[in-house]
Amino acid sequence: MARIDLSNVEVMFPPSQRNGDPVTALSGLELSIGDSEFVCLLGPSGCGKSTALNVIAGFVQATDGAATVDRKYIEGPGTDRGVVFQNANVFPWLTVEKNVGFGLTLKTAKGRRDNGEKVATILKRVGLEGFEDALPMELSGGMLQRVGIARALVNDPSVLLMDEPFGALDAQTRIIMQELVLELWEQQRKTVLFVTHDIDEALLLGDRVVVMSARPGRITEDIRVKLPRPRSYAMTTTPEFMALKAHLFDSLHSEAVRADRLEARA
Ligand code: ADP
Ligand code: MG
Repeated sequence: MARIDLSNVEVMFPPSQRNGDPVTALSGLELSIGDSEFVCLLGPSGCGKSTALNVIAGFVQATDGAATVDRKYIEGPGTDRGVVFQNANVFPWLTVEKNVGFGLTLKTAKGRRDNGEKVATILKRVGLEGFEDALPMELSGGMLQRVGIARALVNDPSVLLMDEPFGALDAQTRIIMQELVLELWEQQRKTVLFVTHDIDEALLLGDRVVVMSARPGRITEDIRVKLPRPRSYAMTTTPEFMALKAHLFDSLHSEAVRADRLEARA
């Protein structure tokens, strides 16, 4: 398993043709995620949540500060970190099975045999058994997102990074997918960073909920969610849950108002 540490992380994007000024997406960001911990990151749109996740994924390099996984500097993407995006980023011309197998690392003959088993195991685990030969166009949004999750998990990464994975799904499907994530976490206890807009989702899933301020993103709240595990959707109506939700709603709302004012001045 793995721990993640971001210390004084800055990400400055250089000026683009469209935008003549550099953008400081993150500045002085401090975030540590313990081994097997599930952390949800909330914050107004544009505050730098995806940028923070992409630094950990190795897609974006910090321009200052230190970003480490298990105390090793992050130098680029790696199979130790699986990533799930909002659009399941599948290849439309490959079957479910081939999509999931695509990123597997072992390509030797023996590896290929093992790979078949690995893919079958993960497809079963995410509820895609029987859909091996389906093409993405034949699948619903929820099933597509299962493919995305299977792809992220197939190399058995120690870290799972999820960037608003269920943002485009309808409410019912979303709940089913949240329950799947809870079940997977109970089985595998990976270290998870889960970015979301949705307070209920953050509280249902996370051991901690971290709130980021408007750009440049800093952490303004770091709340421990003491709801017992295993969790289920039924918990979202308990008084403890409601109290945390009201608190987070207030802090998120004031950040959103601030972000809006910043936007208006820019
Ligand atoms: P969030 O995920 O919280 O909505 P992002 O991390 O996507 O926010 O973006 C944070 C800020 O950085 C935004 O102002 C966004 O426009 C800017 N940004 C993100 N990626 C790039 C990039 N590749 N080049 C320039 N600016 C970027
Ligand atoms: Mg984002």
